[in-house]
Amino acid sequence: ETVLRACNSKEILKKHLKATDRKVLTRFPPEPNGYLHIGHAKAMFVDFGLAKERNGGCYLRYDDTNPEAEKKEYIDHMEEIVKWMGWEPFKITYTSDYFQELYDLAVELIRKGHAYVDEQKPEEIKKYREKRLNSPFRDRSVTESLKKFDEMKQGMIGEGEVTLRLKQDMESDNFNMHDLVAYRIKFTPHPRTGDKWRIYPSYDYAHCIVDSLENITHSLCSLEFETRRASYYWLLDALGLYQPSVWEFSRLNVTNAVLSKRKLKCLVTEKRVDGWDDPRLMTLAGLRRRGVTSTSINAFVRGTGITRSDCTMIRLDRLEYHIREELNKTSPRTMVVIDPLKVVITNMEAGLVMNLDAKKWPDAQTDDASSFYKVPFSSTAYIEHTDFRIKDSKDYYGLAPGKTVLLRYAYPIKCTEVVLADDKETVLAIRAEYDPLKMTKPKGVIHWVAEPKPGVDPLRVEVRLFDKLFHSENPAELDHWLGDLNPLSKVVMPRAYAVPTLHTAAVGDNFQFERLGYFVVDKDSTSDKLVFNRTVTLRDSYGK
Ligand code: ATP
Ligand code: MG
Ligand code: MG
Repeated sequence: ETVLRACNSKEILKKHLKATDRKVLTRFPPEPNGYLHIGHAKAMFVDFGLAKERNGGCYLRYDDTNPEAEKKEYIDHMEEIVKWMGWEPFKITYTSDYFQELYDLAVELIRKGHAYVDEQKPEEIKKYREKRLNSPFRDRSVTESLKKFDEMKQGMIGEGEVTLRLKQDMESDNFNMHDLVAYRIKFTPHPRTGDKWRIYPSYDYAHCIVDSLENITHSLCSLEFETRRASYYWLLDALGLYQPSVWEFSRLNVTNAVLSKRKLKCLVTEKRVDGWDDPRLMTLAGLRRRGVTSTSINAFVRGTGITRSDCTMIRLDRLEYHIREELNKTSPRTMVVIDPLKVVITNMEAGLVMNLDAKKWPDAQTDDASSFYKVPFSSTAYIEHTDFRIKDSKDYYGLAPGKTVLLRYAYPIKCTEVVLADDKETVLAIRAEYDPLKMTKPKGVIHWVAEPKPGVDPLRVEVRLFDKLFHSENPAELDHWLGDLNPLSKVVMPRAYAVPTLHTAAVGDNFQFERLGYFVVDKDSTSDKLVFNRTVTLRDSYGK
């Protein structure tokens, strides 16, 4: 059952119930001034989630009242990413759809003596607010305010000269009741209404009125808006409009990241990252490009809980947990060597190529052909540089001179010789002997890629590895947060080798590269070269 505000009169309620057919109506109201981030995923989960659970509807409402910051690109992106997150807007609206109604209501408010045109400059307003003093213009006549408001509308007064302010309560302990600004002058053309308007409503003025006009039943927002609740109800009461129920939930923050659109935009415009969808950003577009699915983002958000506890700073490993949970079930396994070291198998016939079975799924049964893929094994194979050491040690299971490891799905190999560069340090290649009868049972098992035909290089791919973008858990609170950027947050491995079956992979396909983690095909891929992003490693790397 809808919680209905007691202050709504019977008459108002009747109208409201008729309009909504007793359905729950919510709204997700982003400002189109950037890309949506993981915090917005929480807001969507609450707004769309509640409506869905109650068989109601959720508006996607663009809160477009700041023409300077807003762009069509952001609007288009938001609609697309909301759908990607699995949500279906009941209707798509814009605050600017209501500019005329909002204006008419402002005139009515002035007439009723609940608003006045203030000629104080922003600094003066601030000073007076601090001292809780009334503006000298507060008691000017209705006629005078109406005339000035019309001049504002006509574009006869310059930007920043005057504002329309609500006549609230300068003595209130709640500073959000200190005569909030309802309208300000802006000459910037608006992405949708062009130069029709010279005055734009503030968030505090427009948000509650549009909620009311759209017959929203539950207006849900993050906790920083709690102190604005009083003003929300005050204004609707002053106008005699239907009052939705407001409820706040705590904001979501994640470690080693920044979320505010302003900071994200700074990273993008200063080219500290590769665009709004850089896989290191906690934007939803960035997470998607990183290979994260919307279902794991929603599972993560659900797991953090929707509460009113203060600022929740959630560790990134909790997000990674949900990503692994899902990708482990959905991503076929494959083999890629990101930093290849050549292994020449000296006791194998040079022209021989064996076509071996490798598991796509960990539990695959040998009689289930679709759960396997073919991998060529020949006398020239490649292993990771990091899987070879000249000096062996007890706790090390990789390859070393004289030591044996198993090439997964193939044979044990024993290192018989190391080919060093002139510096006598750099390992250029190794020679090894394989054990065709698999008599040895080495502890170490490693992944590998071999030449598909004698003398033909394996499939070359580029692999991008990511680490946290910021060193500190909460960079946003640092004075020089840009100085906290991790220079090694992106490492490119341009000369990786992949098994041949990967050549048909398409942008967005997820894989598990054996021992290396989960990867996705990036949009930078070309017909000549696939590019893979690492989504996450196989195990928690932040917990350490
Ligand atoms: P930002 O400064 O990060 O852009 P915002 O609050 O200005 O945040 P809006 O686009 O105006 O962003 O927000 C749309 C909705 O998303 C609002 O209801 C807001 O409460 C909610 N929201 C924004 N950030 C978060 C967050 N980190 N956690 C939960 N909800 C959020
Ligand atoms: Mg906002
Ligand atoms: Mg913001």
